[in-house]
Amino acid sequence: MPVIAIVRCSKLPDYEAAVRRAGGDPWIVDPATAPADIVARAGGVLLTGGGDVHPSLYGETPHPAFDPAEPGRDEHEIELARRAMDADLPLLAICRGVQVLNVARGGTLVQDIPAHLTGVLSHKAGAPHEPWALAHEVWIERDSVLARIVEEGGQDPDRCQVNSRHHQAVQRVGEGLVAVATAPDGVIEAIEAPGRRFCVGVQWHPENFYRTGEFRSLFEALVGAVRGLG
Ligand code: MN
Repeated sequence: MPVIAIVRCSKLPDYEAAVRRAGGDPWIVDPATAPADIVARAGGVLLTGGGDVHPSLYGETPHPAFDPAEPGRDEHEIELARRAMDADLPLLAICRGVQVLNVARGGTLVQDIPAHLTGVLSHKAGAPHEPWALAHEVWIERDSVLARIVEEGGQDPDRCQVNSRHHQAVQRVGEGLVAVATAPDGVIEAIEAPGRRFCVGVQWHPENFYRTGEFRSLFEALVGAVRGLG
């Protein structure tokens, strides 16, 4: 069974369940395990949600809304993302994970959507009691890997409803990555690295749907890439 390294966060159970249901074997990792060892032993990597990447890591000073992640996560996960991409290891990035991936590739973030963007939708829904509550739709680029996966999962890439809960977003897209989904207000909701075995990041929380399966195809694509399928 393909081993998927999942970076430790405060809401692990849904990530683990989603990986299991897709046929993967979850391996919870944290800063105690060197990124080089993770890349050597895991078949794929899942970057999870959490607090904000420190803005100094993309050359900015923190906005007052800065909400740090657990100590050590930024450096560990950025190195893990870099090494996973260097090794072309299948990688799925979720919420904070997208932000980590983008910064790892030299990109920048919108530090606080309400403070820095005007006329935007609410990007917070549901939590904590209904993490599957839908916030807004996303428009997914037709020729992207993500569009194919969402379509395989029985949803319409042109108007896919998502449970986003975030106050940050990708701003300048990092090297080798492209934006492949936006909310109707222009906020970037997904990125991917074309030409890789599998490297996709979504700003919403597909793991919260593991019971009902709306985004199971995303986890199946990760596990399938590890198996050498798709
Ligand atoms: Mn959103």
